[in-house]
Amino acid sequence: MKLGILGNGQLGQMLETSIADQSDITVNLYDLRAFDETSLQQFLNDNDRISYETENIPAHIVSQMESVEEKVFPSLKALKTFQNRITEKNALRAAGIDTAEFHAVNSLADIHDAVQKLGLPIIMKTTTEGYDGKGQFVLREPSDATAAWAEIGNRELIAEAFVPFIREVSVIGCRAENGDIKVWPMTENIHHEGILRYSLYPAHGFSAEKQAIAERYIEQIATSLDYVGTITLELFETEDNLIANEVAPRVHNSGHWSIEGAVTSQFRNHMLAVTGQAITDTASKFAAVAMINVISDEGPTAAGEDMSETYVHSYGKEARPARKLGHVTITAANTDERDSKISQLEGLIPTGVWTK
Ligand code: AMP
Repeated sequence: MKLGILGNGQLGQMLETSIADQSDITVNLYDLRAFDETSLQQFLNDNDRISYETENIPAHIVSQMESVEEKVFPSLKALKTFQNRITEKNALRAAGIDTAEFHAVNSLADIHDAVQKLGLPIIMKTTTEGYDGKGQFVLREPSDATAAWAEIGNRELIAEAFVPFIREVSVIGCRAENGDIKVWPMTENIHHEGILRYSLYPAHGFSAEKQAIAERYIEQIATSLDYVGTITLELFETEDNLIANEVAPRVHNSGHWSIEGAVTSQFRNHMLAVTGQAITDTASKFAAVAMINVISDEGPTAAGEDMSETYVHSYGKEARPARKLGHVTITAANTDERDSKISQLEGLIPTGVWTK
């Protein structure tokens, strides 16, 4: 089988590597930045099935994908749903998943309506193409509305009620064509300036009840869309609940630990699912795991080389401010050992962001 993946960044590459042992599957990556209509059509026609490493696929490319809709996994319906924060939230709610209260904003007047409905503060976001906290504005006073509309408006926005969360976690699952669903153990995710810096498994003190809620959420959203492939749900943890923030219809940075840390990685199960195969065990092989991103010019440090059970992944990219250049995975027999290893790699994490 020939599987074509739209996008040739690190996610596409890790997807390809994850299935390298299956010689009957040929993986082809398409560089979306080098798009032209003819080469894309050829790519879509030449491959038996099509998947993608990113939901940030421009509308003209999505409409071209419609010509081969039946061989796109996850489906175009899922892709389109999660490309827009409003259709995404509606789909989550329709599947019985809690989200922040929200209000669609298409004008300055709508922002004032949102303040009436949601109270303050509210988070304003562009409905499409936002990532790593870009295209966002925190509205603290009604008088901020004009500035918010000027800065990110003049296009469709979503206003979200502020969720007073304890921390951010994510749940990643995979659904096969036969409806089988497997869910990886959850991580706690620590961001800085909108970018994920590290993920921890297990999340300290995370209850079995909350793990069960998250698993139910993944099952509900994946089943409601007849989803095939790996899917990620980013969540806010509150005192007694989990509130869905956003969905990525793909493998996710907070699941990179699963390459060394889980019986089957998020990448491999995605590839198994989208090629119509059975998916396999997602359990963690270790009592504790961490994943630290290597951002911009910090570079993978030599520290990783003389530390046992530490795996350095370099994406072979040139350093640019705030760019993800690689990640380091740590596996450990317990959380103390994990945390002391993280402390040795503290140089990869901005000052004050590693708090243990
Ligand atoms: P997002 O791009 O939706 O992941 O948002 C980026 C970050 O902004 C999140 O990781 C949160 O830290 C924060 N944030 C987003 N939406 C909300 C919300 N409704 N309430 C509180 N914080 C939020």
